Formats: sequence, C-alpha cells, structure tokens
Amino acid sequence: MVVVMRGGASETDVDKVVHAITEVGGDAFVSRGKHQTIIGLVGDLTQFAELPLHAFPGVEDVIRVSRPYKLVSNDAHPRPSTVWVGDAAIGRDTVTLIAGPCAVESEEQTQAACRMAKEAGATILRGGAYKPRTSPYAFQGLGETGLDILHTTARELGLPFVTEVVTPADVETVAAKADMLQVGARNMQNFQLLKEVGMAGRPVLLKRGLTATIDEWIMAAEYIAQTGNLQVVLCERGIRTYEPMTRNTLDVSAVPVAQSLTHLPVVIDPSHSGGKRELVLPLTRAAIAVGADGIIVDVHPRPEAALVDGPQALVKEDIVLLRETVARFAEAAGRSVARVDQERSTGAWGRSAAGV
Ligand code: PEP
Ligand code: MN
Repeated sequence: MVVVMRGGASETDVDKVVHAITEVGGDAFVSRGKHQTIIGLVGDLTQFAELPLHAFPGVEDVIRVSRPYKLVSNDAHPRPSTVWVGDAAIGRDTVTLIAGPCAVESEEQTQAACRMAKEAGATILRGGAYKPRTSPYAFQGLGETGLDILHTTARELGLPFVTEVVTPADVETVAAKADMLQVGARNMQNFQLLKEVGMAGRPVLLKRGLTATIDEWIMAAEYIAQTGNLQVVLCERGIRTYEPMTRNTLDVSAVPVAQSLTHLPVVIDPSHSGGKRELVLPLTRAAIAVGADGIIVDVHPRPEAALVDGPQALVKEDIVLLRETVARFAEAAGRSVARVDQERSTGAWGRSAAGV
C-alpha cells in the first residue's frame, strides 16, 4: 500500500502516519518529493486493515498495490485450476459445454431439454428449480420437486448437473442432490449465501452480478474460497449497460481479465447475456475465441410454451450447430472439447470440495 500525502501536509502529519504504521508492526518508507510526500507500507495487508489511514490529517489518498484477494488470486496459485463436477472437468485445456433448461417446468420438459443438451455434447446439465425472478408474480420454480426431477433426469442420462440455490436455508437440500451449486447474478453479493454454499462440499458456479465490477465478482469468489472450497467457476453472464438491444451486454473482456487475475476457470453464458436465440451461437463463438473455459446454454423443447426465458432458449434444430460450433471454435482456440472422463470416475460425484 502507498499513502499519498497532500501537497501542504506537515512533517507532523507524516510522522503520525509513520507512527501508526509501525505501531501495528508494519514498516514505513517515506519518500519526499518536491511537491508531495508518499509513504510506502510494507507488511501483511491484514495488519493495516483496521487503520483509518484515509482519515489521517494531510492524507490525500491510500492506494493498494497488491490484490485484495488472496486465495483465488493467481499470485499464490500460478497454475490455472481445474474444477471437477462429478466426472466432468472445467479448466484451461478444454472447452466444457453446460446445457439444459433455464427452469425445470415438468418431468417431460426437463427430460427433453436434457436429452437435447446431451446430444449437443454437454458434459454437465443445468436447470433451475429455485428461480430468482424479478416479479414476485412470475413462476418461481418447482423447488424440491424440480430438484428431484432434475436429479432423476441427470442420473438417467449419466451426467452431473448444476442448479441454483437462492437462499442459505436451501443449501443443504440442494447440495444433497446437485453436483454443483450455482449462485446467480442477483445473489453474487449475498455474503451469507456465499459462505453457506462454500461449506456445502460442492463445486460452485458463481455468476457475475448485473452491475458488479470484475474485482467485486472475484471478491465474492474469495468469500467461497475462505470456507476452504477452491472449486469455484466464474461465469460472465452479461452486465447492465445503457444498451437495450440485448438483454445484457456480454463483457467478453471479462474472460481474459479474470483469467489474468485468478486461477479459477471462467465460463460464459451466451443465453442470459444476449437474451435472444439468434445471438447464442455468435456469442458462443466469441466466448471460445476469447478463451472461455466453458459455455452455459439454455435449451428448451418448446420455447413458445416456456415458463421462463423462452426467447433465448436454443431449440432442437440448433443442437447440431451448437455441437459443431463448440468443436470448431475449440479446435481453433487450441483446446479440446471436454468429455466425461470415465477413467477418473470416483463413484462419489462432487463429494470433495478440496482445492486443486
Ligand atoms: C440462470 O442461469 O438461470 C439465471 C437466473 O442466471 P443469472 O443469475 O445469470 O440471471
Ligand atoms: Mn434464465
């Protein structure tokens, strides 16, 4: 950290800052310029966390030079992590396809959508049983019934699945069945939920908040990591901008930026970002080209009857194209398409929350 003193700061002001730093066990290096004095702090950042340096007389600014996150930072962990969801990997060597219905609406719809997902090459299924809806009058999801439908369907298809959990009270129930827990965009800074989800012993898919900066998103991942669970995947799903032509604005630059700061895999959700079926494949191409470690896509057998997000769901006719798009772009990006690793089969999907 660096403390920048105001032009008119007195020697006494400088001394007070230096004294405060050394009192908590840090070292202070004073550098006096012609117009301004700056003080470099050396020590463990946590030593200075409680010091209200901004409030000291004569202080103009306090600048962090090291990253505020530790466990998910690639400073401490330079090799990219691979997160295992059941026997499916999400990591830097492969492109992983996650697909399924936005919401579990019925057994029939879920089975049809998950079959489409498998046909497209998905190694992980998705589906929402607990839906975070903007309107309290909108379909809120089937809850535990939906979770059971998804669980049965996924097991029949032999694939692991990810599903959202919206409240700490449901974490245990969802973690008992799901292979990966999703924290949705609207809950990215629900810190209690992040901690509970972290402790559930499952890998976590953490979506970026609608208005969250990349730093805030990574700090949310740090909350999960603090519980001892490093099996976290970041998901860019579009951010809110002034542009109304798309549901959200897909921030493709978030992928290389987040990958340069953390060791966590980063995936893109082209469905919730574009919000339109015809944008899903172009955004998938962009995502793989920019280096995303995976794609999470909504599919639906009859989007015209969908209870949630029909306009963005891919349909049967899109499935072959999705599979081919992922394969071709993965190859161009120097990666293989993720497949379920039968040899690694542990028989205990996602039980371990240990870091890699
Ligand atoms: C979802 O994936 O179903 C979802 C609600 O996404 P988001 O939290 O990104 O809006
Ligand atoms: Mn949705």
